[in-house]
Amino acid sequence: MSTNIVWHQASVSTAERTAQKGHASCVLWYTGLSGSGKSTIANAVDRKLYERGCHSYVLDGDNVRHGLNKDLGFDDVSRVENIRRITEVANLMTDAGLIVGTAFISPFLVDREQARQLAVAKFVEVFVDTPLGICEQRDPKGLYKKARAGDIPHFTGISSPYEPPVMPEVHLRTASLNVEEAAEQVIQALIEKDIIS
Ligand code: ADP
Repeated sequence: MSTNIVWHQASVSTAERTAQKGHASCVLWYTGLSGSGKSTIANAVDRKLYERGCHSYVLDGDNVRHGLNKDLGFDDVSRVENIRRITEVANLMTDAGLIVGTAFISPFLVDREQARQLAVAKFVEVFVDTPLGICEQRDPKGLYKKARAGDIPHFTGISSPYEPPVMPEVHLRTASLNVEEAAEQVIQALIEKDIIS
């Protein structure tokens, strides 16, 4: 742990950044099983925001694990650290005025609650609610097949639990929504919360 560190106050305020960009910043925290559609929907929302002239970015589970978090595994301690680092990165990005989507399974209530508590900007939890059977049918990365064969330890939904959100700001039931409809629901939530106009 480093000591003798003093927080340096930024010279550009949050209000100034909001005025410059024409929208507020927030964290869109997507959570759901593997294959539920987090990355797909987060990217569809990102495209819509881009087309509206908003400044946004998606932190994607696999991409972050390629770099920043490549030293972390999938055991409980690593999952907690994974979420903590993502939260801190999202904080830096929202501090810079962005609308940040995070697409991580984030299976544990306590970790998502911690992310919410640590968030400096508005925190919008988006539950990508897709039944396990459908995720397993989609199996876009072939991971369920491997997990069922016992080749992936601690696989959420199979050998590790998923704790669904209790009161998510946005609840997407993807069994009855296509990607476009799901993304539009997120955009509407951002309008209702005065993050975008
Ligand atoms: P995750 O990021 O949650 O692991 P992905 O977005 O990588 O999931 O994969 C979800 C897969 O399901 C994609 O291949 C996507 O095209 C497909 N899919 C089918 N219907 C939907 C839907 N209604 N919403 C989101 N994804 C869907």
